[in-house]
Amino acid sequence: MDELTTDLIHGNRRALSRAITLVESTRPDHRARAVQLLAELPDRQALRIGLSGTPGVGKSTFIEAFGKMLTGHGLRVAVLAVDPSSARSGGSILGDKTRMETLSRDPRAFIRPSPSRAELGGVARRTRETVRLCEGAGFDVVLIETVGVGQSETLVAEMSDLFILLLAPAGGDELQGVKRGIMEMADIILVNKADGDLRATATRTVADYAGALRLLRKRPADPPGFPKAMPVSAVTGDGLEQAWADMTALADWRRDQGHFAQRRAEQARHWFTAELRAGLLSRLDSPEVRARLRATGDAVARGDADPDAAAAQMLDWLRG
Ligand code: GDP
Repeated sequence: MDELTTDLIHGNRRALSRAITLVESTRPDHRARAVQLLAELPDRQALRIGLSGTPGVGKSTFIEAFGKMLTGHGLRVAVLAVDPSSARSGGSILGDKTRMETLSRDPRAFIRPSPSRAELGGVARRTRETVRLCEGAGFDVVLIETVGVGQSETLVAEMSDLFILLLAPAGGDELQGVKRGIMEMADIILVNKADGDLRATATRTVADYAGALRLLRKRPADPPGFPKAMPVSAVTGDGLEQAWADMTALADWRRDQGHFAQRRAEQARHWFTAELRAGLLSRLDSPEVRARLRATGDAVARGDADPDAAAAQMLDWLRG
């Protein structure tokens, strides 16, 4: 085992940063080392919490307050992000250094912005490996943040033990704004900003969502009372302890019932397939293959070859 791995296992945050950089690198030698490093990690488990919410709902304020509360309990907390916009622009929802300033200075916390990549699937695959690195480094809780855009929630749910949806207080008709598929993934809906003038609206919003959740199909991995909606205020801290108590109660119940391990097993299978698919696709990305693809595509377009025969021939060639 090399020094980086040993330091990482001892919880050294600089080693963790370096290991993540390795995992995010596209260089083949880095990739090989990252794969080896991941294989050498001890079998430690953190509670993986996915957190989704649209911009402005209060994600960073919530994570800062919630994270500080957890470190106050003596827990080590890692915060990661899957940011769809970083996949295109290289920007990141956690890139802004002013976010989570207090938490980022906390010795029990570790904050890492979203990797930037050409496609969202790649961002998610690397973040999933980073979750494993954080577990190897002995973190107790890994929060994975994402904005409510496109596919990112599904990808984050695929790497989380619990999925939390953060919403703002709103009038009844905004309830429709949350896609059904996302509601179905949620274990707990937190209606944030339940303070001051917004408190009454927040209470109504909680009731609306609690009603909507009751209409969803019952999932086997839900104990009575879940999924649930509840009010919180990231600013005053109201409801944060209750939210944590509910998260741990749900996780404990799922552990007892075997759902926890089963979900992780299914996720492992999913990521194996995703990794394989990405690897196969990347093989199509050499100049030689691209040239042949273009030439064969041209032949098919001219009518000189049948699409299915050309595809079969191309597959044979790739295999050889
Ligand atoms: P993000 O875009 O989801 O990360 O949202 P931010 O954490 O940046 O918060 C957006 C705005 O909502 C900021 O002006 C926050 O001060 C405000 N905000 C966040 N949480 C609360 C809360 O619990 N109560 C109130 N009243 N405002 C909040």
